[in-house]
Amino acid sequence: MNDTFLHKGKRKILVEYLREKIGISDERVLKAINEVPRHFFLESIFEDFAYEDRAFPILAKQTISHPSTVAEQTELLELNEKEKVLEIGTGSGYQTAVLIAMNAWVYTVERQKDLHDFAQKKLLQIHLRPKFQSFGDGFAGLPTFAPFDKILVTCGAEILPTELLKQLKIGGKMVIPMGKTDEQILYRFTKISENEFEKEEYGAYKFVPMLGKTNL
Ligand code: SAH
Repeated sequence: MNDTFLHKGKRKILVEYLREKIGISDERVLKAINEVPRHFFLESIFEDFAYEDRAFPILAKQTISHPSTVAEQTELLELNEKEKVLEIGTGSGYQTAVLIAMNAWVYTVERQKDLHDFAQKKLLQIHLRPKFQSFGDGFAGLPTFAPFDKILVTCGAEILPTELLKQLKIGGKMVIPMGKTDEQILYRFTKISENEFEKEEYGAYKFVPMLGKTNL
């Protein structure tokens, strides 16, 4: 992969845009976005636009999220070093790479086999290794590795995946878009006790749907 001065320069401009126009203030998030070559996770025809705040098609009719959405979701996680993070919807692997660049221990799940394989290859090539990468249905989470400090869902859920809340540590946070297919609201759940959660709302977004089962 070629990460040229031009790419690096465009990334710096993107980071300034995220800071000034989107209001991202967690410097660790901005640093990670500055480090991870997003163009590497896109089809080459989109390479020139990789540092614009746009979503693009990836394999299996899915989309890589806008950089602003990646930044906002990541900021809401309030990540500390070496926290265990469960990501549902590996997709291209870009968001996974951002989390790893922030020194999170990432466990990621993807239901589309093509994307699982694609992300695995890409992450290996840039030496950003998740702790565990699973091809499976994210509704089930990863019970063997639970509990997690943080959970990030990158697809829109019509119903609350309660299994994921069970796999959260007390004090842990889950960031998840929820709603019908045309629009979702981004929520953050904080686990207060085994059965109590605080729920905060962070505006409207459009994500690809969270679907059950796997697709080979
Ligand atoms: N974070 C990704 C965004 C991918 S879009 C990126 O940076 O590229 C969301 C992804 O969630 C899609 O790849 C979709 O296949 C996946 N997905 C949808 N439902 C899922 C489920 N139940 N379990 C795991 N992955 C799921």
